[in-house]
Amino acid sequence: MPVPMLAANWKMNCLADESAELARSVVEGCAGLKGRDVLLAAPFTSLHVVARELAGSSVSLAAQDMFWEQSGAWTGEVSAEMIVDAGCSHVVIGHSERREHFGETDYTVARKVAAAHAAGLIPLLCVGETLAQREAGQTAEVVERQLRGGLFEFEQAGFASLLLAYEPVWAIGTGHTASSEQAEEVHAGLRTVLADMSDTDTAAGIRILYGGSVKPDNVDELMACPNVNGALVGGASLKAEDFLRIVHHREQSGVI
Ligand code: PEP
Repeated sequence: MPVPMLAANWKMNCLADESAELARSVVEGCAGLKGRDVLLAAPFTSLHVVARELAGSSVSLAAQDMFWEQSGAWTGEVSAEMIVDAGCSHVVIGHSERREHFGETDYTVARKVAAAHAAGLIPLLCVGETLAQREAGQTAEVVERQLRGGLFEFEQAGFASLLLAYEPVWAIGTGHTASSEQAEEVHAGLRTVLADMSDTDTAAGIRILYGGSVKPDNVDELMACPNVNGALVGGASLKAEDFLRIVHHREQSGVI
């Protein structure tokens, strides 16, 4: 079983001081943490200050997006090298909010994933269906297309460290989380596709995170699913206490 990854997506929240304070609380709450990894995806403007707070801790830092070109006349864009320079080891790519509001496609996602890997960043690729697609019975087809499309230019060498997040669009920020059965079914399907794209052993080691209204009171059930290897947490990651409860899920029971 891969080590679970608990990732926070702060989205467009937190000024620099607030980011530093939140990061500091997470670091304090993760002291001595074993058997799980923690990642904070902060806004671009907070990356440097958060990197300072995370220095010397086991908590990793991600950006929430990037552009695939290395440098040049791309006003407003941020390259993989800049993200690395700001202290990131990871980058979120293809979040549904970027697909929905900023025209992200499987093509742009693929270019970003490949450029991230080339720069030494670990991509956290997000896939997920809309409510209409789920109701039309298209979930498996949609997430497979997003996965294969997003990894179209990805090198086999990167598969072992790749992070994948299944985030049903209808569950993000809505308070309606997927049931553990729904999450497990999609995660198992994604792992089968990953095995087809690499091999069974590699696919078994890839962490597939669930995202979509993960909260302190539903994380235990979701994390009990064999193919759920972590969580990508939006709203509940903005309060250190809630996020730390998610990080420390199921600890008392000794299951993980
Ligand atoms: C997200 O931003 O990836 C997310 C899952 O948000 P929330 O937890 O608020 O649904």
